[in-house]
Amino acid sequence: MPAKRFHYSGIIHVHSTYSDGQKSIPEIAAIANELKADFLLMSDHNTLQPKLDGLEGWYDNVLVGIGSELNDKDDKNHYLAFNIDRPVNHRVPAADYVCQVRNQGGFGIIAHPDESRTHIEAYPPYPWTLWNSDCYDGIEIWNQMSEWMEGLTHFNKFWRAMHPRRSIVSPKKETLARWDEGNMKRKIAGVGGVDAHGHIHRMLGMFSVRIFRYKVSFRTIRTHILTSQKLPKEDYKKALQMVFGAIREAHCFVSHSYLGNASAFRFWAENDSDRAEMGGTLVLKNEANVFVENPVKAETRLIFNGHEVGRKEGDGIKFRITEPGIYRVEIRKNGKAWIFSNHIRIKNAD
Ligand SMILES: [Zn+2]
Ligand SMILES: [Zn+2]
Repeated sequence: MPAKRFHYSGIIHVHSTYSDGQKSIPEIAAIANELKADFLLMSDHNTLQPKLDGLEGWYDNVLVGIGSELNDKDDKNHYLAFNIDRPVNHRVPAADYVCQVRNQGGFGIIAHPDESRTHIEAYPPYPWTLWNSDCYDGIEIWNQMSEWMEGLTHFNKFWRAMHPRRSIVSPKKETLARWDEGNMKRKIAGVGGVDAHGHIHRMLGMFSVRIFRYKVSFRTIRTHILTSQKLPKEDYKKALQMVFGAIREAHCFVSHSYLGNASAFRFWAENDSDRAEMGGTLVLKNEANVFVENPVKAETRLIFNGHEVGRKEGDGIKFRITEPGIYRVEIRKNGKAWIFSNHIRIKNAD
């Protein structure tokens, strides 16, 4: 049986009028409420002003947390910094601001790490270059906007504009590989971001539809957290610490909500006496298994140290574990990438 947990579905990486987004934070929060999100993490470019202006808190049923998306002077190394109280000086090498975030007691997520946009020159990529840093805490394994832009060509742009959610197919293989590799050394949380701005403009020349209104983006990539207690409505600061803690500790998973509500997904490991959940560690003794509960029957792939080692179809699935290492699962529905768990570590008894 999975442990009793509270589940919250969140939207991460959103821009408002404090930088290049199209709506105010209260307006964006209202949209998130309408779409039944539980939390919303804002990250305007190189500013913490909305937090300093007191805009964090509960907006009806949505908890709004405010961080900042930092970038360096070449507009690379975009970094989502959360749980910080003071603006971070980003006019320094990226390695410095990544550590500044940690020194403040905050945590950070590498945004769209392997971005490459080769088809349309007007939209250059903003990749991450600083893989040797020890100071980052998470990686955006799936970025909705980045994937949409990357797949864009002069030939398919109209189709992609008309079918923005169907254009989102899968996280990048190289990003998943880096994430697995990093996790073999230390815990690095995997999260999903929407990178919502309200719409993209000038994208299609004369064809001026609004693509990716917040309402559309918010029905794509979600990051789901699991907590042992309910988020308190009367204390937003405590509630935010719980959300940040769950992300930082990788008690979370990522879904593409267009393919279905992933809230009921669970993934855990058990031996005869103990249990570990995503972000946790289990000792390999006697028999150990990992269990998956899918919201509906779906294809489940077990990934061990970065390689697929098992594949089963169903809603309740069990895989026997015989080797220490890091395990995660990927769920596909009708052949399409749907849910990505964080890792569980299995280690030998000392
Ligand atoms: Zn960015
Ligand atoms: Zn962004």
